[in-house]
Amino acid sequence: IYDFSLGNPSIEPPSAINEAIMESVKEKDVHAYMNNSGFDEVKKAIAQSLNKRFATHFCSKNIIMCSGAAGGLNVVLKSILNEEEEVIVFIPYFMEYRNYIHNYQGKVIEVACEKNFEPNMLDLENKITSKTKAIIINNPNNPSGIVYNENVIKKITNILKKKEKEYNQAIYLIADEPYREIVYDNNKVPYLTKYYNDTIVVYSYSKSLSIPGERIGYIVVPEKTDDFKNLIQAMSIATRILGFVNAPSLLQKVVLKCVDTVVDMTEYEKNRDILYNGLKECGYECIKPQGAFYLFLKSPIKDEQEFCKLAKKYNILMVPGSSFAYPGYVRLAFCTDTQMIRKAILKFKELFEEINKKPYI
Ligand code: PLP
Repeated sequence: IYDFSLGNPSIEPPSAINEAIMESVKEKDVHAYMNNSGFDEVKKAIAQSLNKRFATHFCSKNIIMCSGAAGGLNVVLKSILNEEEEVIVFIPYFMEYRNYIHNYQGKVIEVACEKNFEPNMLDLENKITSKTKAIIINNPNNPSGIVYNENVIKKITNILKKKEKEYNQAIYLIADEPYREIVYDNNKVPYLTKYYNDTIVVYSYSKSLSIPGERIGYIVVPEKTDDFKNLIQAMSIATRILGFVNAPSLLQKVVLKCVDTVVDMTEYEKNRDILYNGLKECGYECIKPQGAFYLFLKSPIKDEQEFCKLAKKYNILMVPGSSFAYPGYVRLAFCTDTQMIRKAILKFKELFEEINKKPYI
């Protein structure tokens, strides 16, 4: 089976992680309840690490530990959303956002994209209303694999600033960043708190440390964010009532010891090159991924679900673009075995040839 369906990291966690787990488990009170927002020394270490990397000025009170990005996004949305308020997402997008927003009776508002998958700025401007509470930006992006550069971020934040003034209310920019560390070819992922005051960052160690099953991440709320004190209080309570109750203590202690550790991404880059070059040689159309570990492929036939069905005949598994609100494309996760990708290219070639023999539209 040539399985390109799931975004489950294929690279083993760095050995420092397993060592930190073994060490942390011996510590006093590691299994106890704690302050809902997390251990203070862990939050402090994260704040210091961010300050060093991004020239920010955070301290422990700006950080809330959470159960991965999924937990973090739910904590943020629970804290800011009232019924019927709107949250803007950029097509194509991680469809779980719909479920998270609906959890708090919010409304999903989709913004169209350009051919290169950057958001259509005019559509963004038109979709912001007095009901807009937040906008979610996922950078690097799942499923398109693109990185929104500084220029794109400035265009987005300028629109948000203008609309905040127009409606005289805060519009929160939620930066969903589980793929922040996975970037290729020297692309830079801007740190959004620098560009816009009402930014809330949701980070996860699922991909950067290859530990998605362990459920650990954090939320950053800068002091200049609108209603900072209430937000922090609401988020601390949200972690208590949404059902997960504080981020896992053992993994918080691991983060403290490995705060600047990341997995070696060279294998993903190699996989990206093999897959991208191989597919282009077969005749497929796609944009070279700049970050994350997904390649968004234009379906050679109009109905991408039909394309996925045909691919199954060759034992190739992919996710249809309609699962990301963008039909006509398919997503391939290349966080998988390199040899498997090499072999799969031969199958993609046969698949392309079969399609070109028949009158598909
Ligand atoms: N956001 C995006 C865009 C994702 O792709 C994922 C997981 O794949 C998540 C959030 C959730 O990640 P986590 O494991 O940190 O909850």
